[in-house]
Amino acid sequence: MSPAENLIQRLAKVRGRNGSWTAGCLAHNEKGPSLAVRELPDGLVLLHCFAGCETESVLAAVGMDMTDLFPPDSKRREYGPGKPGVKPAFYASDLMRVIAFEALVVQIVAFDIASGKRPSEEDQKRMMVAYERIDEAMRYANV
Ligand SMILES: [Zn+2]
Repeated sequence: MSPAENLIQRLAKVRGRNGSWTAGCLAHNEKGPSLAVRELPDGLVLLHCFAGCETESVLAAVGMDMTDLFPPDSKRREYGPGKPGVKPAFYASDLMRVIAFEALVVQIVAFDIASGKRPSEEDQKRMMVAYERIDEAMRYANV
């Protein structure tokens, strides 16, 4: 099952097809179609709640987390920089969203450290995930 299929089957009031859907957002208890879901050509899933819910809250409401939005490595690599001639699967704006979100994670942990708080083990692990995702996004962007 692709990350998009996995997410879509957990949502209510789903409409749309071919990689682009709207659905009700379970994070803010509203049944209207405030959630936009998009599947990129390589299987990465982007979602946005127009009511302002954080992506992680939306996912938590359906029992998923950020890692569930990413397709298995083998599939992602098909579009990687190591394959010349293959059209990049990411648009710059999609890459920027991934980088901006992960940078926010790093910022939050960095703020804790700067205020003398020792980040929890969970936060440290999450920061390493952010590091890897930023690194990967930068490679896709060829920067
Ligand atoms: Zn919402």
